[in-house]
This record gives sequence, C-alpha cells and structure tokens, in this order.
Amino acid sequence: MRNRPKSGGDRKFPRTGPWPERRHHDEEAGRRGRRRGGRMLDYGELRLLILSIISERPSHGYELIKSVEDMFGGSYTPSPGVLYPTLAWLDDIGYAVAEASEGNRKSYRITAEGEAYLAANRTTVEALRARGGQDGDGVRRGAPLAVAEAMDGLKAALRGQLRRPGVPQAAVERIVAILHDAARRIADDEPPETVTPSNPTNGKETMSAPNTAAGQTGLLPKIERIRHELRRRQLTVLSAVSLTPNMIRITLGGDELEGFTSLSAGDHVKLFVPDGQGGTAMRDYTPRHYDPHNRTLVLDFAVHEAGPATQWALGVRPGDPAQIGGPRGSQVIGGPIRAWVLIGDETALPAIGRRIEEMEAGVPVTSIVAVPGTQDEQTFETAAALTAHWVHRTDATDAAAIIERLRDVPLEPGTFVWLAAEGSVAKAIRAYLVGERNHPLAWLRASGYWVKGKADTTEKFED
Ligand SMILES: Cc1cc2nc3c(=O)[nH]c(=O)nc-3n(C[C@H](O)[C@H](O)[C@H](O)COP(=O)(O)OP(=O)(O)OC[C@H]3O[C@@H](n4cnc5c(N)ncnc54)[C@H](O)[C@@H]3O)c2cc1C
Repeated sequence: MRNRPKSGGDRKFPRTGPWPERRHHDEEAGRRGRRRGGRMLDYGELRLLILSIISERPSHGYELIKSVEDMFGGSYTPSPGVLYPTLAWLDDIGYAVAEASEGNRKSYRITAEGEAYLAANRTTVEALRARGGQDGDGVRRGAPLAVAEAMDGLKAALRGQLRRPGVPQAAVERIVAILHDAARRIADDEPPETVTPSNPTNGKETMSAPNTAAGQTGLLPKIERIRHELRRRQLTVLSAVSLTPNMIRITLGGDELEGFTSLSAGDHVKLFVPDGQGGTAMRDYTPRHYDPHNRTLVLDFAVHEAGPATQWALGVRPGDPAQIGGPRGSQVIGGPIRAWVLIGDETALPAIGRRIEEMEAGVPVTSIVAVPGTQDEQTFETAAALTAHWVHRTDATDAAAIIERLRDVPLEPGTFVWLAAEGSVAKAIRAYLVGERNHPLAWLRASGYWVKGKADTTEKFED
C-alpha cells in the first residue's frame, strides 16, 4: 500500500521520508558541486526539480540524472544514490508513478497529485531552474561562441541518438569511443595539470591519479567508473566450441539479456555454477562479446585441471541453462592515452582480445600474452596498429618469460599498461614496470585474475 499525502496539493517541501536525508545529501554535496556556503540542492528541492522535469516528459533515472546535469551545465550531477531514493519517495507519496519502459527500465510519469504539488510550488521551481542557469555556465563562461555552439550541437546530437527507444549497444559503444577520442584530443592541447584522485562514490566516478615519473606527458589518464543495475539473468547455452586447445568459447542467449551493459573490456560477469557439493559457486568471466540485436553473450573459458567453472564449461551442451549476474559496473579508461600495452595470461586473453578489437583505428597497441603453445594463440580483427607478442610457457605462475619480452617494449610517455594474470605473476610484472622501468602507477592497472592454489581468489593492487 502506498503512503499517500492527506492533501497532496497543499503540501510544501515535505522534509521527512524513510531515508537518513542529512547523511545522504551531506555526502552528496561533499562529492559533487557544493554551492559556496551551502548545498547545491536539498532533498525537497531535488524532488521539485525532478517533478518539473517529468511533468514535461516521462523519464527514467539515467535521463533524469542527465537532465539535472544539463540544467546545471555539468556543475551538479545527482548520484544514483540520491536520485533513486528521491524517485522512490515521489512514487510512494503518489506524486509520480513508475512504469516499465524500453529495456526493462522504469520510466517515471507525474500524477495529478504531483501536478498539484508542483503548481503549489511553482515559484520555488522557477527559482531552482533559474539557479541551474546561473550555476550551469561553469564551462561555458568565457568560452568562445563557436565552442558554446559546438557544445550545443554535440548535446543535440547525443539527445537525438540516445532518446530513441532501445539504443543498440554497438551505437552506445561507438558514441563512447567518439567522446573519449574527442576528450583525449582536446586534453592533448591543454597545458599540463595534476589532479588528486577523487573519493569513491556510489554512482559514476572519474579519477585521475597523480603522475609520479619524469618523462610522462604531465596529463593523466582518466578512469571513469560507471555502475550498472545489478541483475541475475537466466540464460541458455547456445553453443560451446573449442576455440583453441585450451580455450572453450561458450555463447549464451536469452531474452533476459535485454538491457545487458558492458562498457569496458575489464568488466566481468559472475557465472553461477554447481559447486559439486549440492551448492552453487560463483566465478568471474569477461563479457568477450555482446550482441544486443540477437541477445547473445560470448564468454571464453581458459581450461585448467580444477574448478567448478571450468568443469561446467567442459560439460555444457547447447540447450543447458546458464545463470549470470552483472556486470555491476564498468571501469572505462580514457583520457590522453597515446599507446597501450596489454599483458596477461589466457584468463586475461578475453579482455585483451576485446580491448584490441574495440580500439580506435591507428592507436598503437602492443600485447604480450602467455599461453601454453602456438596453437593457443589467437588472431584479432582490429583497426588499431597492433604488435602482438606470444610467450609460450609451461608454468603459469612464472613471470620471467613475460618480463623478458617486456624488456624490449618501449614505454613512451602516454603509454597505458593494462595487465592481468595469476596473482604472483601480475605482482612481479607490476614491480618490474614500476621499479625497473619507472612507469608511473597512474598509467598502470594490474590485477591478479586468479591465485595459484586458492579457489575463487583474485588480487587487486593499490594504485
Ligand atoms: C575480472 C576477471 C575476469 C576474468 N575473466 C576470465 C575469462 O574471461 N576467462 C577465464 O578463463 N578466466 C577469467 N577469469 C579468471 C577466472 O575467474 C578464474 O580462473 C577462476 O578461478 C576459474 O574458476 P574455476 O572454478 O575454474 O577454478 P577455482 O575453483 O576458482 O580454482 C580451483 C583451482 O584452480 C586454480 N586455477 C584457477 N584458475 C586457473 C587457471 N586459469 N589456470 C590454472 N589454475 C587455475 C586455482 O588456483 C585453484 O587452485 C577472470 C577473473 C577476473 C577477476
């Protein structure tokens, strides 16, 4: 039963709700756009602003975040942690209703009670919108007219593309690549600057880490963390084939892939498989390729002796059920990156292959991948300028062969190194890069995708 106001039309700025409001918006204000001497928007104000936006056009959460951000010219972005409780409140109180829309997202529409509440607070809403206009000119203030016009053109083009229902994943990825490319090229013309890492947030996070080594560009790569709705999906195995002697490619399909989002090759899904003792085990796998039109998802499994996920991959047949969760978020690496070096073993090969295939035309990429033998090497369709090195090794926990090959690879300023392998291998390569090659930590991401002798274990390294 929804909690409706006794008299919707004459309520003004309701202050109470089921959430600890002060903590939420104090955190929020600390993270994003605190006005001089006060908060950018308090909860009551945000509710009114949201109502006024959905009175013009029903919208889902992400659209609302972008609308408020646009209104404030990018100087204030409500995080999902603030926006969704606000929407839930409006729904509970009866000012808005949530309706299922394209892609299983909820679209919010204003109700008659909401319209009445909005009308009763019209003056406040107008003041809020005017405040948006004042605060919103941060980037534009002093920008040449031609730049402001180009920004408007970009915004209109994005709206045109993204407001259509069911935007294909390929289009989203193309837009993200174009925007990153534009950002990188604009940043390349900027004077050097050093930015301190921001604190983690619940929603979208952009982090630039300080540069520590001489000889780097002075500009920093940008790492944007984007959270996704966390859902379990019941799928079906469409095919299971041997890609190479030690890699099985499994294609999953099903309507529940609707809305599946993976923006970065570093993403992972959780695969739920029988643990062999009557329970369920979860393991991490890279979304190697997602096709939103046919609703298919490809996962590649490195074959090793033990482990429930590997056993599952070895045993499944077309028609078998499969269950995945996530990705819960994407870490999109961009900014003024001039070249990439991608290093890993066969568990990192799906991420490395995807990264290479999604790379923009002409970008210099060097890959060093350790596999058991020649037949385990793979080829990639890419427009990037790829130099692929394959290292054949017997011991997956020996970093020496990879490091030996790495010695000949130049690490010019502006080179981003992405690396994932067995934990001790990743650690040793990272130590070599930082200690012997003086590669800045800001230009390096290293992970242990598995740890020898330990089931279901990964390793992360502090930046
Ligand atoms: C972000 C992320 C993405 C990943 N993407 C992929 C992917 O796309 N494809 C992929 O194959 N793997 C991937 N991995 C690695 C994979 O999750 C692990 O290898 C996982 O442990 C395999 O599960 P399992 O049930 O087979 O073995 P577990 O039950 O986890 O482990 C059982 C035993 O096998 C050992 N072991 C685990 N993996 C290996 C291995 N590769 N070689 C030799 N011994 C091993 C363990 O040390 C343990 O002793 C990814 C990991 C992360 C963190």
